[in-house]
Amino acid sequence: MLNRLKEYAINNNIPIMEEEGIVFLTTFIKDNQVKNILEIGSAIGYSAINMALVDKDIIITTVERDTDRYLQAVKNIKKFNLKDRIKIIEADALDIVLEDKYDLIFIDAAKSQYIKFFEKFKNNLNDNGFIVTDNLKFHGLTNNVDIIKSRNLRALVRKINNYVVFLKNNQEFITEFIDIGDGISISQRNK
Ligand code: SAH
Ligand code: MG
Repeated sequence: MLNRLKEYAINNNIPIMEEEGIVFLTTFIKDNQVKNILEIGSAIGYSAINMALVDKDIIITTVERDTDRYLQAVKNIKKFNLKDRIKIIEADALDIVLEDKYDLIFIDAAKSQYIKFFEKFKNNLNDNGFIVTDNLKFHGLTNNVDIIKSRNLRALVRKINNYVVFLKNNQEFITEFIDIGDGISISQRNK
């Protein structure tokens, strides 16, 4: 069933997390006994479902602003019988206020707004929690900004690179960069 969901996403150009990244993320969740997760950018629910299936005690809140994708995610979450453990919110993540604290915050929405997501949702992180970000390599483009012909794409890739610099210079968080999948970072409060 998970494979079918993955195939559907690939065939419909829905940018789900790469297989390698999913394996890394789910292993990380298991190893660190992560229970409460906030995801920014659900798409059709693929990564949220994968994370929820790690352990039956895991509870996820996930946010998606695109109505079509949100509706597909709702359907998929139902199909996997995960309605009780995955709460999906249809909204722009930058417009909502969440009160809860999470063990892990997975940022995987608009790449141009990563710094904003990080600054906003760090307040929802448990003291020992992790902020994980996907797509820091952006399909290998982040090392090759100057050869990108499209202006918009170049601007986007520059923003991702700015985010990496932001993480590296951040005094409040320590970040580890993992060179698998499309490039992942893991940030934890500097104590
Ligand atoms: N995490 C998913 C893939 C997410 S793709 C997976 O791996 O299965 C990124 C999604 O983020 C898109 O569906 C896009 O609509 C959504 N998105 C982008 N910016 C957003 C925002 N500001 N708030 C909520 N969702 C956003
Ligand atoms: Mg991604």
